[in-house]
Amino acid sequence: MADIEGFDFVVLGGGSGGLAAAKRAADLGARVALIEPAELGGTCVHRGCVPKKILWNAVEVADHLRHAGEYGWAVAPHTAFDWAALTAKRTAYLARLAALYANQLDSRGITHIQASGRLDGPGRVRAGGRQLAAPHVVIATGGIPYRPNVPGAAVGLTSDDFFRLPALPRRAAVVGAGYIAVELASVLAGLGSTVSLLVRGERLLKAFDARMGELLAERFTAQGIAVRFGHALARVESLDDGRVAVVDPNGEREIFDALFWATGRIPNLADVGLETVGLAPDDQGVLRVDAQSRTTVPGIYAIGDVSGEPALTPVAIAAGRRLAERLFGGATPPPIDPDTVPSVVFTHPPVASVGLSESQARARFGDAAVRVFESRFVPLYHAMTADKPRTAIKLVTVGPEERVVGLHMIGPGVDEALQGFAVAIRMGATKSDLDLTLAIHPTTAEEVVTLR
Ligand code: NDP
Repeated sequence: MADIEGFDFVVLGGGSGGLAAAKRAADLGARVALIEPAELGGTCVHRGCVPKKILWNAVEVADHLRHAGEYGWAVAPHTAFDWAALTAKRTAYLARLAALYANQLDSRGITHIQASGRLDGPGRVRAGGRQLAAPHVVIATGGIPYRPNVPGAAVGLTSDDFFRLPALPRRAAVVGAGYIAVELASVLAGLGSTVSLLVRGERLLKAFDARMGELLAERFTAQGIAVRFGHALARVESLDDGRVAVVDPNGEREIFDALFWATGRIPNLADVGLETVGLAPDDQGVLRVDAQSRTTVPGIYAIGDVSGEPALTPVAIAAGRRLAERLFGGATPPPIDPDTVPSVVFTHPPVASVGLSESQARARFGDAAVRVFESRFVPLYHAMTADKPRTAIKLVTVGPEERVVGLHMIGPGVDEALQGFAVAIRMGATKSDLDLTLAIHPTTAEEVVTLR
């Protein structure tokens, strides 16, 4: 029987949330163990935000190359995108990031155990044949892709598989209409695949202001993505030549080189040993916590995608740091305000959003209290191009003081423009605060302070 090793804090999971919690706790003097069987960095670094943004940048480059002639540059037609070359560079970069995280743990004296960890009763954890004890244990094991329960579902790939593809599929189907579906469809199409986006409902990005989904669908269609609303999928079949057939309820078949499920993610809690402490996920598979990340069992916490918070890296990082500060820094940081979490959907064009959609604001404050300001315009960059996609900005305010409760934007550059406005909105900015702010001309962001 191995000796029990004592710590102040044990962190299950080395993704964005777990790393942030472990590092902040160690900085505050706690003895910390972090348990992660795979590469440090988790989904965001290896199968999410970071590699996704690198591919988004690749599409950005393609867009600029396409417009080069219209800006006076003579360039050879760019027909050869080298997927393998970019994948190799990206993989090397991600390996450097994982090594950097290992160094950060090491330099703080954090014990890093590269094994699967499981709870083993209150205050106890087992990992790689070792037994650990700590008064505080945080579960930060993230999420995994969800495949719907249709015959042949296993034939389809997920976003995890996308990043391991040896080559870009020539014809691809993407099922879903959330963040991952539209980002995948956009990057596949931008790099040269022929893409069908199979949507069971009637709109894209249902969780966002309706205008954003409408305009994104318009843009996708103009870019040649087949956006198929109301699509019913009965089964998926794998063909002898490696391709897949999508079969609808009438037996109609459509053949693709690859099909991607982008139908949501579920908390990764199956092997965490929750039952050993008397905890269980709810019927959505989520381990519910209070605003201080506490489960109902004293000393057991959950942060990030397992906990039902918005599944966004900065949310997990904030929850992890704030937990460590409460436990080891004697601090009382405020809980995360779900109404001011900004996020960007990295499509082409990107969608940037913070706060309430128009319909959410109307439902919460009543129609009479809500005033909406909107602008649509062709940004200056496209004054020189034959293609004239419009950028849209929508501001949602409430009350006679016109307090801003939502800002929603779609168009080039809105991804970088949102962060500063998110600060102002969190501080309670009103429409007149925006009006009194001088514009930066000519930019897209200036439209937010010149709305009428
Ligand atoms: P979402 O919950 O955003 O979207 C899931 C989509 O799948 C919805 O359109 C849903 O349709 C559809 N769907 C679910 N079940 C089925 C089914 N059986 N058949 C057909 N369609 C189905 O999940 P994602 O996987 O896109 O993303 C997970 C989370 O990851 C996001 O919520 C986000 O927090 C995070 N993320 C953030 C990113 C960013 O910040 N840029 C990027 C990627 C992910 P319906 O609308 O009808 O319910």
